Amino acid sequence: MPGRDVEVVVVGGGAAGIAAGRRLVQAGVDCVLVEARARLGGRAWTVTDPSGYAIDLGCGWLHSAEHNPWGPIARNAGATIDKSTPPWARPSLERNFPRAQQDEFQRAIGRFFARLEGAAQGEEDMPASAMLEPGCRWNGLIGAVFSYISGAELDRASVKDFDRYEDSGVNWRVVEGYGTIIAAHAAGVPVALDCRVDRIDHSGKRLRIETTQGAIAADQVIVTVPSALIAAETIAFAPALPEKIAAAAGLPLGFDDKLFIALDQAEEFDRDVRVFAHTDRTGTGAYQFRPLGRPHIEAYFGGALAAELETGGEAAFFDFAVAELTSVFGSAFARRIRPIQIHLWGSDPYARGAYSYALPGAADCRQTLAAPVDNRLFFAGEACSIHDFSTAHGGYHTGVLAAEGVIAVRRGSK
Ligand SMILES: Cc1cc2nc3c(=O)[nH]c(=O)nc-3n(C[C@H](O)[C@H](O)[C@H](O)COP(=O)(O)OP(=O)(O)OC[C@H]3O[C@@H](n4cnc5c(N)ncnc54)[C@H](O)[C@@H]3O)c2cc1C
Repeated sequence: MPGRDVEVVVVGGGAAGIAAGRRLVQAGVDCVLVEARARLGGRAWTVTDPSGYAIDLGCGWLHSAEHNPWGPIARNAGATIDKSTPPWARPSLERNFPRAQQDEFQRAIGRFFARLEGAAQGEEDMPASAMLEPGCRWNGLIGAVFSYISGAELDRASVKDFDRYEDSGVNWRVVEGYGTIIAAHAAGVPVALDCRVDRIDHSGKRLRIETTQGAIAADQVIVTVPSALIAAETIAFAPALPEKIAAAAGLPLGFDDKLFIALDQAEEFDRDVRVFAHTDRTGTGAYQFRPLGRPHIEAYFGGALAAELETGGEAAFFDFAVAELTSVFGSAFARRIRPIQIHLWGSDPYARGAYSYALPGAADCRQTLAAPVDNRLFFAGEACSIHDFSTAHGGYHTGVLAAEGVIAVRRGSK
């Protein structure tokens, strides 16, 4: 890698960088994808559990599945798409959450989203917390669900940005793992792993991309690292790009962590059924029993709760889950569960969170972050997507768009 000279460098080998790299290779552009980690996929990461099941520590759901470009890619790769109903679209377990209460909660969160949609049409942006009905018994649980969606508490998130997200309501899974499909899509793209980019010098005629394996000269670069890393200036731009730093700071990454737990006598439960241990607070986990019919519990923690648990390390998540689950199923339940795996995305130096949300007033930062500089520096990644942010397909689309921009410039049409 040191001393290499290419037409285009792609920084970051997640969904966006891989999609960009594939498009460039297809167009015959001499490029290299430079990834800081020892693996591809970024926040898409499938591992195999001791029983041989593929589990997704990052993205797991093909959201807006019927339009999601990763669907055909997965099918072409011979993967199995599971189309069964997601837990949030099924009734939750009734044991501690009777059906009448679930219906009441659904009506309350429906009113919350309707108010949010109305408020988003107004001139002024505001925090999503302003949409809560004062004194509503379900505000805590609405906050919990919001933290799973956005990774942040309601008072941190922009109503306008949240409303721009487009969700077709169709959600599928890849049995062999979403992360597997995304990483495999890099086939044919020249890749340098374990190669962190520290500095991008765009002062000269050609770009100089300084990495831990030496410098690369290029005409153009596509930067796809998470917005939290741009905001923290982990890559130094010379000359500096204060507009990009400010835009990225408006798009922090929320916290969400997924703990996989092995469950004995799992057949007692229906597949893909969700349990809320507490329905009166935001700081509670969502427990998906028998995901894909497997003998697991997929526990999801969001926002401030996930951030706090991360300070206690992996064990803190399992301890919290045991306390919550035994409060629902009794103390003997603790003997039926064992931790499998979790990844702490907020503590991960190359992610610093799970997915982006916009601070109140910062919804338009996504366009600012995505805008190319001098037709030489291009930006992609889920945070650059106006309608599909926070997702792997949003990452894909921004990657392809940036690559198309590069190709157009190279063909002299810009
Ligand atoms: C727990 C969790 C659950 C999720 N669930 C879903 C879901 O169900 N569905 C969905 O669609 N999305 C989900 N997501 C979000 C989805 O995973 C991300 O939006 C998507 O993978 C982001 O892709 P990206 O290419 O924009 O960024 P990334 O995947 O973060 O890729 C950026 C890459 O840049 C690399 N990098 C960072 N710094 C440097 C540097 N200095 N030099 C070189 N390389 C660098 C990183 O290592 C990384 O590989 C989830 C995420 C998490 C964490």
